[in-house]
Amino acid sequence: MRKPIAAANWKMNGDFALVEAFAKHAWPQGNVEKIFGLPAIYISKAHELGLEILAGEDVSAHASGAHTGEISAAMLKEAGARYAIIGHSERRTDHGENEALLIEKWKQLKAQGLKVIYCIGESLQEYDAGQCDAAVLRQMNPVLEAGLVDADTVIAYEPVWAIGTGKAATAAYAQEVHGKIRALLRDKAAGVADKVRILYGGSVKPDNAAELFAGEDIDGFLVGGASLQADTFDKIVGAMA
Ligand code: PEP
Repeated sequence: MRKPIAAANWKMNGDFALVEAFAKHAWPQGNVEKIFGLPAIYISKAHELGLEILAGEDVSAHASGAHTGEISAAMLKEAGARYAIIGHSERRTDHGENEALLIEKWKQLKAQGLKVIYCIGESLQEYDAGQCDAAVLRQMNPVLEAGLVDADTVIAYEPVWAIGTGKAATAAYAQEVHGKIRALLRDKAAGVADKVRILYGGSVKPDNAAELFAGEDIDGFLVGGASLQADTFDKIVGAMA
């Protein structure tokens, strides 16, 4: 039985006051694993205040050294993170991140015992051209071939056209793609295929979460905009109960 996940991705939003509000919030205990992806500078404060479980939104591909402005996996861990998001479409687009770089980031996280939330998803152009399957394979195959996917891996399927647009994928479409990702895992990482949690991301809100979550291969959500208010994110967690 896979434990569902509700993961917040604050992106470059929030402040110390929001960290405090989230730490004070009475989160439902239940069976849903709540993960809070915060800007790195807020992680140690959140950890001090008892907000768990914490995730970085990115990590350096290097262990340490002359890489100004970067944050290592060891630093994320020391600050209190237990996960890191890598490969978010905004990183892929804004910073040209590709699978080769993401494999290096993944290795850094693994070396520190941090769990990976690996984001994939087709662009609008690929969606319009019916190339979703090709996009998923392009992003999944290299990490599978590198032997990085393990039972702790979390895949976040986020169609880029649904991120921040208010146009979520339909429940049927999301389940169809998640089913294909599960089949790919069964083919190439058979030992862990039924343990890997596959999250959907893209305009998840309290009012569409329950319908999306009904898909048998939809193990939870990665939530951007609707994770910036504790009450709203809490309602998404509640919709998964
Ligand atoms: C995201 O950034 O991962 C995301 C899914 O954003 P939103 O929920 O705002 O679409």
